[in-house]
Amino acid sequence: MQLIPRSATPPNLRWFLALPKFGIVLLIAAVIALLWLLHQNELEEERAALIKDVLWLEQNLRFQLSGNEERLQQLAADLATSKEPATLFRLRAKHLLNIHPEISQIAWLDAKRHEIDALPSGRLSHKDSASTTADSRQTAFETAQRLGKAVYGEPLQLEPNTSHIEITLPIYVDRNFIGALVASYPLQSLLNGQVPWWFAEKYQVIIVDDNDTQYAAKSNIKGTPSLFYELVFEPPGRGLKLRVTSYKSAVNPLQRLLAIAIIALAIGVFWSLWIVRDLMKKRSQTEQALRAEHAFRTAMEDSLTVGMRARDLEGRIIYVNPSFCKMTGFNQEELVDAAPPMPYWVPEQLDETYALHQAVLAGNAPKDGFEITFRRKNGEHFDVLIYEAKLIDGDGRHTGWMASVLDISERKRASELARQQQEQLQFTARLVTMGEMASTLAHELNQPLAAIASYNSGCLNLMNSADCKADEIRPAMEKIGIQAQRAGKIIRRVHDFVRKSEPKRAPCQIAEVIDDCLGFIEADARKRQVHIECIVAKSPEILADRLMLEQVLLNLMRNAMDAMANTAEADRRLEINVLARPDELEIMVSDRGCGIAEEIRDKLFTAFFSTKPEGMGIGLSVCRSIIEFHRGRLWAEENPAGGTTFHITLPVEEA
Ligand code: ADP
Repeated sequence: MQLIPRSATPPNLRWFLALPKFGIVLLIAAVIALLWLLHQNELEEERAALIKDVLWLEQNLRFQLSGNEERLQQLAADLATSKEPATLFRLRAKHLLNIHPEISQIAWLDAKRHEIDALPSGRLSHKDSASTTADSRQTAFETAQRLGKAVYGEPLQLEPNTSHIEITLPIYVDRNFIGALVASYPLQSLLNGQVPWWFAEKYQVIIVDDNDTQYAAKSNIKGTPSLFYELVFEPPGRGLKLRVTSYKSAVNPLQRLLAIAIIALAIGVFWSLWIVRDLMKKRSQTEQALRAEHAFRTAMEDSLTVGMRARDLEGRIIYVNPSFCKMTGFNQEELVDAAPPMPYWVPEQLDETYALHQAVLAGNAPKDGFEITFRRKNGEHFDVLIYEAKLIDGDGRHTGWMASVLDISERKRASELARQQQEQLQFTARLVTMGEMASTLAHELNQPLAAIASYNSGCLNLMNSADCKADEIRPAMEKIGIQAQRAGKIIRRVHDFVRKSEPKRAPCQIAEVIDDCLGFIEADARKRQVHIECIVAKSPEILADRLMLEQVLLNLMRNAMDAMANTAEADRRLEINVLARPDELEIMVSDRGCGIAEEIRDKLFTAFFSTKPEGMGIGLSVCRSIIEFHRGRLWAEENPAGGTTFHITLPVEEA
């Protein structure tokens, strides 16, 4: 009976379990890589946009400054040729300042760098500048004169907190240097004017030099910088750089949510996989335990010598163990699924067997088991003892009947043999008793025969006389009849006693049994000068084999007389008492004999134990087995008056 489905063996299962785990790890890695790539892509795009924007800004500034330079160049050229240069300067400078607010001042200097005019005047005076400022302005002035073209000076701190950059443009008349025009750009104003608002929303723009000194900055945002890009700020050059920094834009919440969801889902899948793995592990352990249990059970069932047979509620066989198969000679395939009549039923007893089968299915099987005869496949009959029990499944449902079947044919044969041997022994014991009593019985038989002979010769004499009357002969003839009956009774009793018959329990009166025994023993007792006293209480009938009881009592009485062989004649008393109790009878056979020595008391009832030279020693052992057969007890006690008392108890049963 296959109870457990075969499943993957543990190493395979481990591989099987590892695969999805491996897959999930790969999936998580792929998801993380994807997110990282997306992030990198974003950064790249951000960087490209930054560069593009920075280049655009730089171009814008360059365009603006170059345009301004050209216009100032034009003004310088016009001043050189103008008849009224003062008016021209004022007019054109004012116009320039108006349309280019990033220029804070335009100054007109002569060849000695003295200010001729300035718009707005005075604010960024070229006269009373600090010495470093003056030096740097001087250098720029001289360079412009020497090169004959516009020159940007170094950044100057002309007003508090505001750095300026100045462009110096030389003025020539017929190759004679007559002065220069100087225009100032406050760097902050330059950024304010030239960096559009949308640019400032995205980036921070600062102007720095090589030493990272900051000159101007513009930005509308705050936060953590992420990327920056630097470009040489040319014109004006002078080591100035434009640094544009982008700020981390707020991450799209949907994107973040998506990333979190993906990671959470991956973790969830991993976790559930872990749980499944745990469950499968537990399942595999349980299966392992079940397999071990199954193997153990199978080994146990296979080694059982008791046959096991399970039937469903309809009586169909669902399981038989190897022992049952061995017992019946049929194999599992032939028995499982078999329905009544079963192949091992005895064909001659089909009806009884079927009735028993029905009783079992109805739940009426005897609790102490029942005996039945089965037939082996080879036709041999054998007796079995069957115990039936309910078959209960895992849910507590009654699904059939389980029987343990014991082959008792061998045991029965042995007990039958023992019984026959015991019977034989009893019979032998009876023959022995009878043999021992033969001379007494012959003597007893001799008396009626002698009487018959003498009555017979008396009758013959009477008949010989001439006046013989029938009435004279009659009494003698009657006595002959009586004596013949007496002799016949003796012979019948002997015949009855040695007759071989099956033990048969029938209701009988103990007084009658004792009477019969006395009939046997009286002659012997007379011979041995033993006085017999018999007190029998009124007692109910008991169920017993009369002959067997006689054998017991006779044996005890003869033993008692044997024991009194050396007792003084006057004391040779054999007492037989019968006590009646509600549930049992007690019979006591007492003598005044030699008693039983302590050392032989234990061996008394052992077969073939005798202290007598010609004794066989089977008497008491047979007596005990007979009494036990009658469910009674036999034991010996000391007689308080001297000698021994043998006690017998017999249960009083309803006939
Ligand atoms: P057997 O009479 O052939 O010896 P039994 O089995 O009847 O065999 O008795 C066994 C022995 O028990 C006797 O040999 C005797 O020693 C002892 N025995 C039996 N009955 C008595 C008795 N009433 N008094 C003393 N000894 C007894």
